[in-house]
Parts: sequence; structure tokens; C-alpha cells
Amino acid sequence: MYHALWRGEDDPDALARQWAADSQLRDPGARLYALDRRVFERQMRQIAALRPACPESWDRLDASTPNAAWITFDDGHRSNHDLALPILQSFGLRAMFFVTTDWIGSDGFMTEDQLRALRRAGMLLGTHGCSHAYFSGLSPEALRRELTASKERLEGVLGEPVTALALPGGRNRHRIQDLARQAGYRHLFTSRIALAKPGQDPLDWPRIPIANRQPEDYLPRLLAGDARLVAAQARAQRRRDLAKRVLGNAAYDFLRGLLLAKR
Ligand SMILES: [Zn+2]
Repeated sequence: MYHALWRGEDDPDALARQWAADSQLRDPGARLYALDRRVFERQMRQIAALRPACPESWDRLDASTPNAAWITFDDGHRSNHDLALPILQSFGLRAMFFVTTDWIGSDGFMTEDQLRALRRAGMLLGTHGCSHAYFSGLSPEALRRELTASKERLEGVLGEPVTALALPGGRNRHRIQDLARQAGYRHLFTSRIALAKPGQDPLDWPRIPIANRQPEDYLPRLLAGDARLVAAQARAQRRRDLAKRVLGNAAYDFLRGLLLAKR
């Protein structure tokens, strides 16, 4: 699970300016999950060497292919088009892009034309809600609106049905699955850290976040199916989830922002 990329830059002042000029990258919390494009390129080379099998359409998605590595992006940051797409194409890789539809064409995010360019290049597109509100905190009416309005918006842009969604905030619930199924979704991607298993419930795909402070051997170990590494990440995630439940999402995000700003 990727988010934004930034242009590779050796001069720290130029890098700081690039971050400051970007609505996402200037936020230390969002930047944790953003990557230098050179690191991304190295990782795509590692994935391409595995010959992964991201299918050409959502209905051909299942977890029965051993050693498949699926590449996903959340939020619809402009760098997905400007930096990630050419690298993916250079390795002949296909990826999935989940777009926050209220942000389409706004500062730092992909325009409708750029989304269509991704699709023409063979990429798979799904929604990431309208407003990026965490689904787990929404009333049923608000949740239904996020599901249907984001789907209709992206379908309008692409001119084809959209049947996949990645959950903002990442946490799945049975009521979210039920409402998403009713809204016409067939695939739900979460941020639950795990490896997908054969027979995986398509309304509960797990994913593993890629962040810029991970060691260089992190992705190679994941690609090798290192179950102990995944289990350790999942345990750390459960501790974070417990803190979120105790504090509430807003207080958790606020405290996390303070800690990151201090660093
Ligand atoms: Zn997101």
C-alpha cells in the first residue's frame, strides 16, 4: 500500500521546499507513508523480478496466484500520475489506484484527465470515499453517501463501472461490508496487515503499508513471504488500534501529529 511519492532530491533544502509546496507532503503524518521516487523505482524492480500477477480487471482478482504482489495507491496524489505511472510502465507493472473523489483536481491531487490517463495505461481504479472521513466513525446515512457518491463520481470520470474501494482509515466492519455490497462494490481493501490467503474474502483484502523509514530489506522480506515480519507488523498495528479505540480517532491523530512534528 503506497500513497504519495516525491521527486528524488539530494539537497536537503530543495527537498524541504518540495515538501513545503505540497498539500500532502508538508504534513509529517502523511509524509511517513510517502516515498522518494528512487526508492519506489528500486522496489518496483524487486517486484517485477517476481513477475507478479495484478490482473487486468477487477473481476479477475483472486488470491489463488502464488507469489503475486499487488501494488496499490491510496488518496489520488498527483505524484501517482507524474512519478509512479512512468516507473510502473517501464517495468510493465500494473497497479491499483484508490481515489478520494472530493479531492480530484484539487491542490496536489490528480485531475480527471490524469485519472483517465492511468486507466488508459491499463491501471485499475477504485474509490477511497468522497471526503476521506473514516468510515468506522460515520452514521449509516453518511456512510451510504460516501459509498455511492464516490462511486458515481469516479464512474462519471471513467465512463465504466467502479466496483472496488479502499477504506479511508483502513478499518473494516461487517456493517461497512454490508453497505458496500448493497452499493455495488465487489472488492474492499483494508489496511489490516496480513498476507492474503487463497479463498480470501474479496470484501476484506488485507494490505501492508510501505513507509519511508522501513529498512531496505523490508520489501524483499515481504516478497519472500516472511510470515514473522508480517506477524510483528500486525501486532504493532493492534497496539495502535487499541490506542485509537481508547483515545478516539481525532485525539489519536492529534497526538500523533504532535509527536511527528516534534521529531
Ligand atoms: Zn487515505
